[in-house]
Amino acid sequence: MKRFVYADNAATTQISKEVLDAMMPWLTEGYGNPSSIYAKGREAGFAIEEARRKVAQALGAEPREIYFTGCGSESDNWALKGTAHKLASKGKKHIITSVFEHHAILHSCAALEKEGFEVTYLPVDQDGFIHPQQVADAIREDTALVSIMYANNEIGTIQPIAEIGAICREKGVWFHTDAVQAVGNVPINVKEQNIDMLSMSGHKIHAPKGVGVMYIRKGISIPNLIDGGGQEGGHRAGTENVASIIGLGRAIEIACADIEAKNAKVAPMRDQIIDALLKIPMSRLNGGRQNRLAGNINLSFPGAEGEALLLSLDLEGICASSGSACTSGSLDPSHVLLSIGLSHEVAHGSLRISINDWTTQEDVDYIIEKVPPIIEKLRSISPMWEHIQKGELVLEGI
Ligand code: PLP
Repeated sequence: MKRFVYADNAATTQISKEVLDAMMPWLTEGYGNPSSIYAKGREAGFAIEEARRKVAQALGAEPREIYFTGCGSESDNWALKGTAHKLASKGKKHIITSVFEHHAILHSCAALEKEGFEVTYLPVDQDGFIHPQQVADAIREDTALVSIMYANNEIGTIQPIAEIGAICREKGVWFHTDAVQAVGNVPINVKEQNIDMLSMSGHKIHAPKGVGVMYIRKGISIPNLIDGGGQEGGHRAGTENVASIIGLGRAIEIACADIEAKNAKVAPMRDQIIDALLKIPMSRLNGGRQNRLAGNINLSFPGAEGEALLLSLDLEGICASSGSACTSGSLDPSHVLLSIGLSHEVAHGSLRISINDWTTQEDVDYIIEKVPPIIEKLRSISPMWEHIQKGELVLEGI
């Protein structure tokens, strides 16, 4: 029987009932402007501060170190551009990041390069990891910032953030991490992990789209990305998205309540899908098995073109992704898959399935039932698969 299976939680998540319930009063009668001095405004302001406290608690930060933004991309832009512009006056015009960051980071770096900043893009190994020593070796006298993502959005690999944080702190270089995919899935403590700045986004943790967070360690001051009114302590102007901020506060509280228990449920389902789909001939897992997000599955099936695979899955009621949602629409293979050494042919035939604790065993069984015949069918009409079968095309790493 046809089901609907949402397996694209790395792209976005459904707003949970608890979050919606928390938001509703602020979408209806609680419409006051938090900057207004009368009670209706003050109440909204207090509710925002309560949300800020919840975010701070989840990240091991202080409430005054938490700034609400419009999305994860805004936080990433702010961290990179703010730091670069702040430290350029001290002669620090070098940034270190990795080749497989989200485009919010990579395109911010490209913009800064046009302004005369220099960026070192660290390569990742074939399993999708940055090694702390690479960061240590790349830091220079003029390094302003190290920005390494916490967990990769396509292949789910979790980076050694505490070790990188310790190196940066020792060398006196600010450290930013894009934790959009990590918050709620990995325990985070910005103090213990020496994180100076962190980006996150609401819509990956069952809060609405269009709200994000930037943690900026006390003592660090960077220029504003958005100037205007005095909201967010004068550091991020714009009348607050009150309901969404409150939704994010409730969402992070739930997401971080018992990460271990959640992962203990999700990781075995992930492994079951990986093991079952790796039985498909000439398939490969992208990203190492260790230190991988509990809900991330990324596999390549050369000869089964990614977009056709997604459309076929959609006909069966399964939502998944090929590369990242942000890059689909472009015919270029994913930069993340290329960064771990995949050829264009192999990268094009890739599938990301991202599950979470809302996923059921029935969903898992359905995915395992539906994917193999689709791959077989797509390969049966693929000229590339014919070349592979005849030995005319040899693919590395498969
Ligand atoms: N960084 C990572 C790692 C992401 O996965 C995403 C979204 O997919 C973003 C940043 C951007 O977040 P937002 O959609 O809130 O702008």
